[in-house]
Amino acid sequence: MDRRNFLRSLMILPAAGYTMKLQALQKIAGAFDNTGRMPVLFLGHGSPMNAIELNEFSMGWRSIGKTLPAPKAVLCISAHWETRGTFVTAMERPRTIHDFGGFPQELYDVQYPAPGSPSLAGSIRDQVNDTEIGLDDSWGLDHGAWSVIKHLYPEANIPVIQLSLDYSQPPQHHYKLAGELASLRDKGVLIVGSGNIVHNLRTINWNNPEGGYDWAIETDAKVRKLIDDRDHQSLIDYKKAGRAFEQSIPTPEHFLPLLYILGLQGKNEEASFYNCKTIMGSISMTSVKIG
Ligand code: ZN
Repeated sequence: MDRRNFLRSLMILPAAGYTMKLQALQKIAGAFDNTGRMPVLFLGHGSPMNAIELNEFSMGWRSIGKTLPAPKAVLCISAHWETRGTFVTAMERPRTIHDFGGFPQELYDVQYPAPGSPSLAGSIRDQVNDTEIGLDDSWGLDHGAWSVIKHLYPEANIPVIQLSLDYSQPPQHHYKLAGELASLRDKGVLIVGSGNIVHNLRTINWNNPEGGYDWAIETDAKVRKLIDDRDHQSLIDYKKAGRAFEQSIPTPEHFLPLLYILGLQGKNEEASFYNCKTIMGSISMTSVKIG
């Protein structure tokens, strides 16, 4: 090869590689064309039994589901998938994970056979810059995801993928990462955070199924007020918010999915609240819809 052809080959090869990558990206983009902006949800999931019981909470999720435009896919950030590093599920057929113990067989028999979406997982990995996202082929759908999404889409006909919570990162990281996912809302992706605002299993009061401790009720109300006031920073800094918050949020995993939803809130978007009830002393079932 003479010098001129050699130089030309240097120019063409990267261009060919670029074209291939562009074609792959266009293929992904084709599946998730621009749509109207999808709302985002935080669902307070509570007991796994809500998956199979028709009660005020599951009926609340069903009524939220009826207000939503049909999504092309659901991306769920569940309290029950914590990892070191951040991953998205990328399998074609996610399994239904029964990640709990001591419940009736009926609950273990539940399958939620929604398809996955490897193309959406790949596009999330490609579009997030500040955090490295790994593609996961071993998780599936944990009960934080299927116990609530089952009520939104009982026919399991909408693809569902999950994004894990990196337990090594502070709250600010999760809020910021959510901002990098915002464009998915314009591509027909419904983003659902699944956790509980107040979640203290050590102080559960089985004798008080319909009520909450003062500190639990106070925290849930304050969180709603801060969301109404758009004071996201105070929610990111929840560890500094005093004794009631300390008791209500002893570990971060059920609260962090809420920060993802807030990180996706647009400037002019209102938040509305559902299922605002504190039960068994120290679980609040409050759900939030934005947009
Ligand atoms: Zn949970």
